[in-house]
Amino acid sequence: GTLTLETIQEIITQKSVELLHLQFVDIEGILKHVTVTAEQLEDVVEGKMMFDGSSIKGFSPINKSDLYLQPDLNTFAVLPWTVEEGYAEARFLCSVANPDGTLFEGDTRNVLKNVIDKVADKGYTISVGPELEFFLFEADEKGTPTAVLHDNAGYFEPSPKDLGERVRLEIYRALKAMGFTIEASHHEVAEGQHEINFKYASALEAADKSTTYKWVVKTIAKKFGLHATFMPKPVFGINGSGMHVNMSFFKDGENAFYDANDKAQLSQTAYQFIAGLMENIKSFTAITNPLVNSYKRLVPGYEAPCYIAWSASNRSALIRIPAKRGVATRVELRCPDPSANPYLAFAVIAAAGLKGIEQGLEAPAPVDADIFHMSEAERKAYGIENLPGSLEASVEALQEGTIGRETLGEHVYGEYVALKKAEWDSYRTAVHTWELVNYQAKF
Ligand code: GLU
Ligand code: MG
Ligand code: MG
Repeated sequence: GTLTLETIQEIITQKSVELLHLQFVDIEGILKHVTVTAEQLEDVVEGKMMFDGSSIKGFSPINKSDLYLQPDLNTFAVLPWTVEEGYAEARFLCSVANPDGTLFEGDTRNVLKNVIDKVADKGYTISVGPELEFFLFEADEKGTPTAVLHDNAGYFEPSPKDLGERVRLEIYRALKAMGFTIEASHHEVAEGQHEINFKYASALEAADKSTTYKWVVKTIAKKFGLHATFMPKPVFGINGSGMHVNMSFFKDGENAFYDANDKAQLSQTAYQFIAGLMENIKSFTAITNPLVNSYKRLVPGYEAPCYIAWSASNRSALIRIPAKRGVATRVELRCPDPSANPYLAFAVIAAAGLKGIEQGLEAPAPVDADIFHMSEAERKAYGIENLPGSLEASVEALQEGTIGRETLGEHVYGEYVALKKAEWDSYRTAVHTWELVNYQAKF
């Protein structure tokens, strides 16, 4: 629904909200906020809150550092864990603006807004249903994460093996109180791994919700003395955490990916969207899989994709079409992981799909066989290529392609490439435990 200033004022009075957190994300999607008092609501809503953009990663140079926060009224939420008798805190998610009131080009939320507008010019709206997995680790007395997984349970296992049930219940309650519709919650395949699913929404709302979800999961886990991480591959040898992105385009209120007369009940638009993803995937994994660690998840055998193929059912494929049709028809991209900035990830996925539609690209044949068990020669015969194998390869592909620069805009693109290059360089030059284990005694 759309929240008005009046309704928000009423909630503030009724719930005794004393403090307001004005939240936004940096270039990596990391949440930041500044806190003001509820009495400042009107000024805040008018976008009068200024901050120093030069201290935020990927934002502005020191000589043009004054930036303003424009709260999105629809993101107002009382924070359930702060509520006491006569006291509560609330938050807004904000877009970042320049002193002249125009949207700041370094804000990734604005990057997604631009793509939404571009897609709308072609008559489409974007629906996104992300699935963010995470791990619970034990923390020490100081709250520092340890390497000890919180439980030994596996897929769909109940308590007493699943030790995360209470934690997930409290996360569910907090999210629900903040306006989420929760669809399912379960223990995932790996030890200590969990997933809570919320209902699909428009692209901007889904990115806002992904950001909020990560924050709430970490906040509630901490209350249980645990550490929640969205790092993609925290433990070698077991599944990593993905952020599958289910996306569909709607036109005139109808799902534009559905066609009852096609043999797979997919429209021409859906096939072109799939083709657009496949054509551009290598150039945008640096966005959807942004960390050195992301590429340790994209290896065979752990339900995460590593080959570029699509299928109606196959979980080894990069792109899967879940069984639901009609309004629920959607394309599931399985490579993204939850360390991605959701605003940039959804932006680049939608932009790649749109390119496929605009250029009338043709999707290759689906691959329904298990790709993990194919030989290299068989994959070659099918024309199946590999996803980039490292952050270095991904950043190179990002620079060779056009999708990143076009979608992110000069400012974010430039900052992003510089950041990721530095990250790779720091990893490349560091000496890792693996090297000591394998080389120190032997050589
Ligand atoms: N954890 C798997 C991954 O790394 C996905 C498992 C699933 O299908 O939910 O993507
Ligand atoms: Mg899952
Ligand atoms: Mg999925």
